[in-house]
Amino acid sequence: MKLSYILLILIVPIFNIHGQQDSLIREQQQMIGELSGKYEWNGKSLNARSSSEERNLARDYLKDKIRSLGLEPKEHTYLMPNLNPLIDLLFAPFKGANVYTILEATEKIDEYIVLGAHFDTEVGCPGAIDNGTGVTLIFSVVKKLQSLDYRSKNIILIFFDQEEEELVGSQAFARHLKKEGLKIHSVHTVDTIGWDADGDGTVELELPSAELEMVYTQVSQRIGQTFHLTRVNSTDHHSFRKLGYPAIGLTDEYVNGDYAPYKDTPQDIYETVNFEFLAKSTVFVYEVIKEIINQ
Ligand SMILES: [Zn+2]
Repeated sequence: MKLSYILLILIVPIFNIHGQQDSLIREQQQMIGELSGKYEWNGKSLNARSSSEERNLARDYLKDKIRSLGLEPKEHTYLMPNLNPLIDLLFAPFKGANVYTILEATEKIDEYIVLGAHFDTEVGCPGAIDNGTGVTLIFSVVKKLQSLDYRSKNIILIFFDQEEEELVGSQAFARHLKKEGLKIHSVHTVDTIGWDADGDGTVELELPSAELEMVYTQVSQRIGQTFHLTRVNSTDHHSFRKLGYPAIGLTDEYVNGDYAPYKDTPQDIYETVNFEFLAKSTVFVYEVIKEIINQ
C-alpha cells in the first residue's frame, strides 16, 4: 500500500470526529443561545423561564424543537399539592406541564429509557448553564440516537417543569409513569453541565443504581471520560428513585467544587458556557445510551 493511502486512512477518521464535534458544538450553541435569550426565537426572547408566561413560551420553543426531529411533542400537565398540607391551605397547588416525546424502538417492545432535564429557571435568570445545558444535551443525544439502525428500547425525551420548586415536574411525571405501569429500564437526568474551569473534563454521576454505575464505568473507560461518583439527591433523578426506578443524575463538578458559579443568578448567561465540555459530556451520555439499547 502506498504511504499516501496509509496516511489518508489514518487522517480521515480524525477529521471526521472533529467535524462531527464542531457541528455538535454549533448546534448546541444555537440552542442554548435561543434558550437563554442571546438569540431571539420567533421574534421573542426566552431570557428567563420562571413565570407561567415565560414557561409557556419555553414549552412552545421545546415543542418546536421536538417537531424539528420529526417527532410528536406532548404535554404532561399536572396539579401537585405542596409537601406540607398546611401550606396547601394557604397557597394554591403547583400547576405546570412537562414537555416530552417518544423515540420508538426499532422493534416492538414495551420497555423505556427516560432522558430528562428541567427547563425552568429561578426568577430573572437566563439559565444558560442551569439548565439550558441539560436540555440541550439530552436533545442532542436523542437526535444522534435517531440515526441508529437498531434500538432495543423506546426513549422518552422529557423536559421537566418546576425543578426549582421542590422538583415538582419530575415528581408528577414519576407518579404518572407509576400509574401507567410503564416498564422503565432506567432514568437519566442532566442538570447543569457547562462549567469546567480546571479543564479536566470530569463530570459527576449522582447516585447511580449498581447496573447503571457499571455501564457508565465501562463506557467511560472505553472513551476516556473521567467522573466522580457523588451522593447528591437534590435534583430530578431523586423523584424517580423515590418510586423505585433505577436512576442517575449527571452534572459538572458540584461536590468537587468546579461548578457553575453563576447558577441561579442573572449572570448565568451564554458567554459562561464551556461548549467543548458540554459536547464531550453529550458524547458520553450518547455512548452510554447506545450501549444500553444495543443489548
Ligand atoms: Zn438545575
